[in-house]
Amino acid sequence: MKLALIGFGQAGGKVVDQFLAYDDEIDGGFVESGLAVNTATTDLQGLEHVADENRVCIGQARVNGHGVGADNELGAEVAEADIDEIQHAIDRIPTHEVDAFLVVAGMGGGTGSGGAPVLAKHLKRIYTQPVYGLGILPATDEGGIYTLNAARSFRTFVREVDNLLVFDNDVWRSAGESVEGGYDRINREIVERFGLLFAAGEVGHGDHVAESVVDSSEIINTLSGGGISTIGYATETVETDDGGLFSSFTGSDDDFDDGSATNRLTSLVRKATLGRLTLSCDVSSADRGLVVATGPPRKLNRKGVERGRQWLEDETGSMEIRGGDYPITGGDEVGAIVLLSGVTDIPRIDQLQQVGTEAKETTEEVRASAEDEFASLVDTGGELDALF
Ligand code: GDP
Repeated sequence: MKLALIGFGQAGGKVVDQFLAYDDEIDGGFVESGLAVNTATTDLQGLEHVADENRVCIGQARVNGHGVGADNELGAEVAEADIDEIQHAIDRIPTHEVDAFLVVAGMGGGTGSGGAPVLAKHLKRIYTQPVYGLGILPATDEGGIYTLNAARSFRTFVREVDNLLVFDNDVWRSAGESVEGGYDRINREIVERFGLLFAAGEVGHGDHVAESVVDSSEIINTLSGGGISTIGYATETVETDDGGLFSSFTGSDDDFDDGSATNRLTSLVRKATLGRLTLSCDVSSADRGLVVATGPPRKLNRKGVERGRQWLEDETGSMEIRGGDYPITGGDEVGAIVLLSGVTDIPRIDQLQQVGTEAKETTEEVRASAEDEFASLVDTGGELDALF
């Protein structure tokens, strides 16, 4: 399906930048346009793939290109004040060709955390297409202010979008990695999962069209109904030389191939679901789901997807699990993408809200006692008068 991608803040911009690169790399055709919005000029300058005219610097009057310093209330105010500037950039893209908007932001900072929900609300008022969010949660060791920002932004963002797809940095970090190196790797994981999902709904322009290719309406229907979504993904390298020595000796090995392709796909769907999700959750709490099998067309079969789909139905107890293919010619990897939507049992979100609440209380206490201490520091008991 065709997306208008809008990255808000540093993380949002970098991820959109990577989406553009990934779309080119896999010839996916899922990006109609990619925009980046920020209050910090240096962040915008660091992007490589977003076109210059699609980089929007807001808040010049308030922060003069220097960012909002993790103050997400200021981020929201600036976005509201300069929403017309963002709209002007969106006016330049062919929105009639877009199936959905995807607003991407890190939830722990200031610009994206505050601005993304404001933009989502605005887009929903103007356009008829769905507006999705891709919210990135901060790692737990980033500190109280980031957690508090994320908890407040999450609450607002999920209310303003048609569906909030979530990626949790905490689950995807590796020990011993530099922050920057870590983000490069993590951003690749993000664009691979979400990019493949959206590219799956974009097959049909002269590609090899299999029997059961996923349609963009299946992605939209899985996401409609709102709430929170998470994605699982698993792959396996396969031997693609189908017409090799073995088959020339035995005639046809199609039966054998079919059976192993079915088993492979079924177990990939299980691995994707039970392995690392972009946001950990209790899978049984999902309301809807979509299974997409990716890889060389000859390695995909309907039975495998169907078995995987049925297994996910049993696992979630949901009757609304869709399934289909995304054939990719030329590769040697078979994969399964599992989209779980409307998930509700998410311990990480409970923890985020609890730590956020504690951080808010501590901040208020510290501020109150700092005010008292300062008052007593400058209080001379009436002995000294101020100058004016
Ligand atoms: P903003 O520019 O004020 O919106 O804030 P940032 O986007 O710099 O940071 C917000 C949060 O996003 C941080 O707390 C990190 O958790 C996360 N973050 C920052 N950069 C990246 C990145 O490149 N990739 C990912 N996955 N997360 C990032």
